[in-house]
Parts: sequence; structure tokens; C-alpha cells
Amino acid sequence: MEEACSKMEKCPIFNEGTLLNEKTGETYKTVYCMTERYKQCKRYLASQRCNGPIPVQVLPNASITVDEIVKRVNSGFYDIFNKNK
Ligand code: SF4
Repeated sequence: MEEACSKMEKCPIFNEGTLLNEKTGETYKTVYCMTERYKQCKRYLASQRCNGPIPVQVLPNASITVDEIVKRVNSGFYDIFNKNK
């Protein structure tokens, strides 16, 4: 059986889909989460280096680097989007 991502239980992309639509979330599940390609998911890679959760705005194939994601998460860059949650 192929290895899957250990973050699935708590990951909003896996559980709720993306902010764009549910279908995109399904695609990410089959392309990343449920295959060994989770090791290339930028959410997964960033989570290895951040203390807090990775915001839903960060997609598995984000156009920015993992370094940039980590920098943004740690600086509170995404907090403004999640203010009312
Ligand atoms: S989106 Fe990435 S971090 Fe989330 S469950 Fe899928 S592979 Fe893991």
C-alpha cells in the first residue's frame, strides 16, 4: 500500500477542500495526500518547520517557496485572512 500523508486528519485542504472549491480539494487529495507525493506538498514541507498550523490559503503546489511560506507563517502574514475565524 502506498504511503500517505500523516497530516490528513487535521489538514483543512484534505478535510474541507480549498477556498476556491471542493473539487480542487479532491484533486489535491488524489495527487498529493493519498500518495507518496505528499512529500512534495508545500503545506507538508512547511509544517515540518512551523510550530503552528499552516493556513488554508497555502496550497500543496503553492507558487512561492517553502522558505517563503515558513517566513510568512512565522511572521503572522496570514493572520489578517483568518481574523474572524
Ligand atoms: S494537503 Fe498536503 S499537508 Fe495536507 S494532507 Fe494533503 S499532502 Fe498532507
